[in-house]
Amino acid sequence: MQDFTTRLEALASQSLLRTRRVVEGPQGPLLQVEGTQELSFCSNDYLGLANHPALIDAATDALQRYGMGAGASPLISGHSRAHESLESELAAFVGTPSALVFGSGYMANLGVTAALVGKGDTVIVDRLAHASLIDGARLSGASLKVFPHNDAVRLEQVLARCTTGRKLVLTDAVFSMDGDLAPLAALAAVCGRHDAWLLVDDAHGLGVHGPQGRGSLALAGVRAAHVLTMGTLGKAAGVAGAFVAGDAGVLAWILQRARTYMFSTAHPPALAAATSASLALIAREDWRRERLQALAAQLRAGLAGLPWSLLPSATAIQPLIVGENATARALSAALRAQGIWVPAICPPTVPKGTARLRISLSALHTSADVARLVAALTALA
Ligand SMILES: *Cc1c(COP(=O)(O)O)cnc(C)c1O
Repeated sequence: MQDFTTRLEALASQSLLRTRRVVEGPQGPLLQVEGTQELSFCSNDYLGLANHPALIDAATDALQRYGMGAGASPLISGHSRAHESLESELAAFVGTPSALVFGSGYMANLGVTAALVGKGDTVIVDRLAHASLIDGARLSGASLKVFPHNDAVRLEQVLARCTTGRKLVLTDAVFSMDGDLAPLAALAAVCGRHDAWLLVDDAHGLGVHGPQGRGSLALAGVRAAHVLTMGTLGKAAGVAGAFVAGDAGVLAWILQRARTYMFSTAHPPALAAATSASLALIAREDWRRERLQALAAQLRAGLAGLPWSLLPSATAIQPLIVGENATARALSAALRAQGIWVPAICPPTVPKGTARLRISLSALHTSADVARLVAALTALA
């Protein structure tokens, strides 16, 4: 016990102690938080669908039909008609033969990685890949190698040295703390040349990138049997859960071997039904993506003269690098005092010395909302 108290104090003294706040109502640009209303720039609800009436109606109808809980894992009796339909819709949406729904993106990355590679194989991960990909790589028991961020040339050198076993390359499509894009066409080509699988984590691209929001692979024009995509359903899609999509043969294998799929209760059918409704809106409502682009442009122009710099991001994630943990936390606190919620992201989530404000935009923000944030940051600078 004593030990943990000391360790917690050490975290606190380095401004590394994480805390939670209690949100009292639905997601949206304005959040009710512990008795106050705050303008939020911290959600991954990029398209503003998390509180959309069509999703709530679809879930409500499905609750009447299926009840609340899935009752069992998908391979026992938890796989409902709602899940079955959603999987076909997801596969069609991202343009692959097959898709499989998981309880969360974290579980999908763990399960898929360990299903594809194991002892005697090699998994090669982008240096800035999401924690769930790194954890999946470790859990798989394969030899773990890292390639420099977005460097397809160095990746090819690493792959060329792997002469035995299977090879799996893991990358985010949109890097969650930087907002930059992986060179997916180059990575897919390199993997193809070296007989390696490529698993692309499109948590932040699905719904936002590509024609009709079909994702980062659609944006890059990449479609190949050795490329798998993982999309999360709790971010732009506004619900919860995740899926992996790709070639039917490899998906059939993942169904047999992904332990986070086999040994976990299926996510509730009502969530699958809500996700189907969400996919229809994502495909139909281009205005949400257009609004995001316009808001990002407004923010970037507005913050251009500040001492801190925005990373070059064309996505809904706009990180403002401030450097020191304490500075990032002080800025976040000063904004909060004005009713604006922008999270400070510090190591170990990001590399030392690159603490930042992670500004995330939603299609439901107005240009007045962005102007308010720009004015507040300008005054603080
Ligand atoms: C959020 C996220 C995940 C995890 O997805 P969940 O459905 O929230 O578990 C995986 N990868 C990336 C890049 C993410 O941003």
